[in-house]
Parts: sequence; C-alpha cells; structure tokens
Amino acid sequence: MQDYISQLNDAQREPVLQKEGAMIVIAGAGSGKTRVLTLRIAYLMQQGVDAFNILSLTFTNKAAREMKKRIADIVGQSEAKNLWMGTFHSVFARLLRMEADKLGYPSNFTIYDSQDSQRLVSAIIKEMGLDKDVYKYKQIASRISSMKNSLITVRAYFNDADLQEADAMARRPRFGDIYKEYVERCFKAGAMDFDDLLLKTNELLNRFPEVLAKYQNRFQYILVDEYQDTNHSQYLIVKALSDKFQNICVVGDDAQSIYAFRGANINNILNFQRDYEGVKAYRLEQNYRSTKNIVEAANSIIDKNKTKLDKVVWTANNDGPKIIVHRLMSDAEEGRYVAGSIFENKMQKQLGNDQFAILYRTNAQSRAMEDALRKRDIPYRIYGGLSFYQRKEVKDVLAYLRVIVNPKDEESLKRIINYPARGIGATTMDKLIVAAKHYDRSIFEVIEHIDRIDIGIASSTKTKLKNFVMMIKSFQALEETQSVFELTEYVIKKSALINELKKDGSQEGISKVENIEELLNGMRDFVEGQKEVDEARGSLAEFLEDVALATDLDNEKDTDDRVSLMTIHLAKGLEFPYVYIVGMEEDLFPSGMSMNTREELEEERRLFYVALTRAEHQAYLTYTLSRYRWGKLVDAEPSRFITEIDDQYLEYTTPMDDYRYKSALTDHLWDEPDKSKLRQRKPVSGKPPSVSRPSEDQIRKLRKIRPSSSSNNSKPSGFEGTLEPGMIVSHGRFGRGTVVNIEGAGGEKKAEINFKVGGLKKLLLRFAKLEVI
Ligand code: ATP
Ligand code: MG
Repeated sequence: MQDYISQLNDAQREPVLQKEGAMIVIAGAGSGKTRVLTLRIAYLMQQGVDAFNILSLTFTNKAAREMKKRIADIVGQSEAKNLWMGTFHSVFARLLRMEADKLGYPSNFTIYDSQDSQRLVSAIIKEMGLDKDVYKYKQIASRISSMKNSLITVRAYFNDADLQEADAMARRPRFGDIYKEYVERCFKAGAMDFDDLLLKTNELLNRFPEVLAKYQNRFQYILVDEYQDTNHSQYLIVKALSDKFQNICVVGDDAQSIYAFRGANINNILNFQRDYEGVKAYRLEQNYRSTKNIVEAANSIIDKNKTKLDKVVWTANNDGPKIIVHRLMSDAEEGRYVAGSIFENKMQKQLGNDQFAILYRTNAQSRAMEDALRKRDIPYRIYGGLSFYQRKEVKDVLAYLRVIVNPKDEESLKRIINYPARGIGATTMDKLIVAAKHYDRSIFEVIEHIDRIDIGIASSTKTKLKNFVMMIKSFQALEETQSVFELTEYVIKKSALINELKKDGSQEGISKVENIEELLNGMRDFVEGQKEVDEARGSLAEFLEDVALATDLDNEKDTDDRVSLMTIHLAKGLEFPYVYIVGMEEDLFPSGMSMNTREELEEERRLFYVALTRAEHQAYLTYTLSRYRWGKLVDAEPSRFITEIDDQYLEYTTPMDDYRYKSALTDHLWDEPDKSKLRQRKPVSGKPPSVSRPSEDQIRKLRKIRPSSSSNNSKPSGFEGTLEPGMIVSHGRFGRGTVVNIEGAGGEKKAEINFKVGGLKKLLLRFAKLEVI
C-alpha cells in the first residue's frame, strides 16, 4: 500500500479508496476532510483516472494550489497540472471562456468585480433620475446579486407578482427596471459579474444539451470541499455535471455553515442523500488539529445549537493549555494585550510570527490590532478589506488593460477616458451614454464613429475622443507581440498615468507608485510562471481573469513570516497554532444585526465554532468593557458565547465580577446565559469577585449605560409605541407578516410576528427593521 494511504486512519481511508459512486463525508473541524479529498484525487490518478476527468472545487484558490502541490508530490507535477481545481468562480469562468460565444458573449469577456457592479448600479440609478436615498446602490446591487444566485432572471422577476409586490412595499417599485437595465448594460459591455459566472454556467448547461453532455463526459469525477456553504446556483451546476456518472464526493461540516447571508443553503448537505442513488455516507470523528481542551470546548459550544447533525469529535492530542479569557477596558488596550501576548509567546517559545492569527467579527476591528502590532514591531498581514487589486491606482492601470482586451467594457472605459485628464468631461460622457443606448452600441463603438453622428459634441472634443481611441488601438496592436509586463510598462508611460502619480509627492502618492511597481512585479512573476507551463495560457486576458478572481488569501507568499489578521469568515479551512479571537462582546459577536431570529443566532454560534477550531495549540478570547461603535463610546459586555463554554476549559486571567450583574440584567432574546453558572464562576487569578448585590441605584445606572436603542446602530423603529397585535408589517428579509404579540419594554421590546413565508418569529424591535403596512 502506498505510503500516503498509511497516513490515514481507517475512517479516512474508506472514502479515499472508494473509487466510484456518490459519497458524502460529514465531519467536524480538523478531522481531515480536506486531506481526504486531496488524497482521494491522488489515489484516483494512481488508479488510472486521467487528470482531465477530475474536477475539484475548493473554497479559495490558495487551498486549490496547496492541494495540487500535495497531489503533485504523489503523482508527479506533469500529471497534477492538468487537474481542474479551484473555486467555483475561477473554474467556471474558465469554462465560460471556452463556450462564451454560445451565450452571445465574447471569449475575452470582462469580469466585473463587486466594485464595478456597484458603480454601474449607481450610474443607472442616476440616469433613471431616481432618488439615491431611496434607491441605495449597495442595497440594490446586493438584491440583484441574490436574485441571480436564486436564478431569478429579469424575465422571471417580471413574471413573479409577489417579488414585484415586495419591492413595491419596500418603496422601490423600479427595482425590476434597474435590474433589467443592469443586465443589458453588462451584456453590451461584454462583462459578467461574479454571480453571472454561476448563473451563465447554469444557463449554458440548461440550454445546450450537447455542451452539458461534453462536460458530463469530461468531469467523470467531481469533488467539492466546504459543501455546506454552496449556494443554490452552485448546487445546480454540480448536480447537472455529476448527473451522468454520479461519481461525486462532497465533504463538509454543517456546524461550519457560515454563509447563509450570502445565500448558502445548508439543505444542500442535508438533502445530498436524496439527490443521488446509493449514497455512501462517511463520518470522521478524530480531530488531528487541536488540543483536547479546544476540541471539547468547541463541542460544548456547538451543542447549544438546535439545528445540527449529530456528530462526535474527539482527539487523541494532549489536553493543552486552557483557553484564556481576558478582559480589557478599551479596544486600544485590547490591541496592546494581544500584541504583548504574541510577543511573550514568541520570546518564551521561540516561535515565528506565522504561528499566530488574530480573528475578528468585523473588518473595522483590525485597526486597534494593527496599531499595537506596529508599536511592537511585529510584522503582520491583513486579509480581506480592500484587496490589492481593488486599490484605486491599481484598478486604474487594470482598467486600461481591460479596455485593451475588451473595448466594450463600460466601467473600465469610464474610469480611464478622462484619467489622466484629457478634456473629456462628464457632459460629454453623458451624451455618449445616451447615444450608446440609442444606437444599441457600446460607448467605444460610438466614439469610433463620432465623426458620423451628431450628438452635440464640439469638434475639438471629438478630436480628443478620436485621439483616445487611437491610443487604445495602438496598445491593442502591441498586445499581440509584447508580454503583459512589457505592455503595461508601456501603457502607464504612454497614457501619462505614472507621471500623474509621480507628481504627487505626498506619502500617499509615493505608496501609490509603489503599488504600481508591485503590480508590475506580479506581472513579471506571472509571465515567468507561464513559461513553466506548457498549456498555452499567459495572455493578457488570462492575467486579468486571475486578478479578477484572486482573493486576498491567494496573494500570500508562503515564505512570509507574519501574524495573520482576518475576519472569521475568511479563516475557514485554515489552522494556526495560536489564535486570538478578539471583540468577544454582545452585539459585536454575536453581531447585533444577527440576533433577530434563532437561525441567525445559530449561524453566529457556528461562526464562533469555526473561529475556535482554527486553533491548534492555544486560543485566547478577549473582550472590552467599552468600545467605540458608530462614533459613540458604548458600554460593552462579554459575549454570551464565553459563558456557553464549559468552565473547565477556561482560564480567566482577569476578574469576572464587573460584568456579572450586567449580564444578569440583560434579557437575551433567544438564549439567556445560564445565570447560575455565571455566579459560580471564580476568577483563576486577580482579585476575588465581590459578592454584594448591586444596589437599586447601581442597577439603574447600569441600565442607563447599557447601549439602548438611542445609542445603537439600528434606527429606532419610530412606531415601537404604536405597534399592536393584528397590524400587518413588512420585514426586509421575511417579507409580510401579522403581529401576533408584543412583550417587553423599551430597548428590550419584542414582537411576535407570523410571517407569510417564514412562519412565526420573535423579533427584538431594537434591531428589527419593520415597516407598517
Ligand atoms: P476544517 O473543517 O477546518 O476544514 P478538515 O476536516 O478539512 O478541517 P484538515 O484540514 O484536512 O481537516 O486536517 C486538519 C489537520 O489534521 C491538518 O493539519 C491535517 O494535516 C491533519 N491530519 C488529518 N488527518 C490526519 C491523520 N490521519 N494523521 C495525521 N494528521 C492528520
Ligand atoms: Mg477543510
């Protein structure tokens, strides 16, 4: 038996060795699901399956690269490189390029990132003369996205009276028109947005049976990691492609499903056994990643969720140190504590920076951590937030390249037509947009024919437009002979873009120039990398596709010795010896936005499970007593998730008395912390808790400083006083419902509402954004 097979335990070996059929591996964190998937591919190839016949879908492209490397070690580089492996988006972007003509798209179609999509939506709202305070472009863009992920096309939308009614009720009756215009404009621009990559793949497989058959025959073995977070659109693609051979292997963990807010559907995992014949279900129970303390603490948390599959997770690893819980006064202090603790651990145990990760619920929390790490000279890297390729100066360069590849790309054209300034103003642009619509052409085509049409543009401006077109065409001619790197160097000089940036001598200006240099370095690597691969990839279009689909994690250089900072969502699938989970406070984690329903709260709890199970050796939980939120300093109290962990796994390094009473005062909607447990809790070190009950006066004070509706993020609903049973209300997510009951008072007031679609739900009015109908 091959060496790598012997590195698997019995339970892991079975799904690796089962060559044919449908199988699902449901197992807790750190039990080797990703390892099983990787070795299964290696084993299939050793059994004679052609790499070209295997399709493997991962959560990040980085994960795909790592898997490929491992497989290459076993079967050899030349074989492994033929595997189709990557995220849904990158794999199907590649497939769509090969079939784009069938859908009326050019094969060099542009991929609009979410920034491009939002800009286009915003432009459309303006062009349609709609009120931008009512039609908020981000909200509209996200609604378009969820329509697409539910496969609701424009036509389907206009055939669905309920959807239109919902938008009318939400006071955005023109949503459908915006959606329609958006889709048409993308099409005309030869552009697909992220959601299109899945939607159009579905369309392709549905409309063209011969294409479906081709890829069914090609991808005889399909494997999906993190299956619990696939959305409906992804589910359908996998289902269609695997329908013929039914050699499908999915792995996942229902307890780590954390993307419901983006449309992920946990039912995909729950219904798998119904979808395929003779499904073999495997369970892995042994965790190899974490200490006993961490594994058992994580178990004790997920136990609190009602919706879950029964699973066992245990480990043969050592007990390890307890999870440290530490209280701070402010976020700045929290940063200092974390940086100090990392510093100490590094010194005492001689560890590298890459052994540490700081995880948080929201991106904004990174600032305090960064400040503290910088002061201690600890190198770090932040993932998420604005990615390198989304920085303005980098996007401007990319926009030039995108127009060279696809001159129809409207968003990119708009970015560069007057940058650097060449006297083509907003009025001219507006005229061009109207003309493009009138002639049903792209803006670039209109400019190409500007001499022959009269749209009220002065002849001096026409000359400027013609010069612009000529410049782009000269770049296009170069593209055929030059590498991406050489072309870009030429473009930034010739367009005067780099001069424009160099004029700005400020620190910010200098760092922009450095970013462009970094982009050029990346291009050089790309060009070099292509030489090693004999597949004919390496064109400008391919570079742009890589860039459009790159996630932050993908840009990591493996040699970098830095502390990792990221949101918990991004940390899925990763592992670090030391993990700091910061901001463990009510309303922050669990998020105040996600406490309206049990479902939402359970998703937050799963998120905490994901966070904790990233830790191999030790976990730290920190919380502060006050925090700036939405510009105001508010009192914070420890997250209920801390109190949910069984005490035996925790070590309190600060006293607990301060917040005990505050906690006892809060009336949490769904899962009240076990107050008796709170009282038994003893600090491990620090001063002993005070035992006297607070006076009425103190309680009143505490109540006052607790963030109430007025100091909170959510708008007070205004009608709280008047909401009565029997009233009909509308909720952004659940739609229309009837108020059944009202209880509580002030900031803790709740309404029980029977929703037409979601059924009975209890909502905290402080957070629920309801509209009375
Ligand atoms: P997650 O749910 O977080 O994605 P997972 O189930 O995919 O976790 P892996 O990442 O595959 O788990 O494995 C967790 C760790 O345990 C990895 O470091 C992996 O190399 C190690 N591991 C898995 N199986 C074994 C084994 N049989 N022997 C030794 N180490 C193992
Ligand atoms: Mg995994």
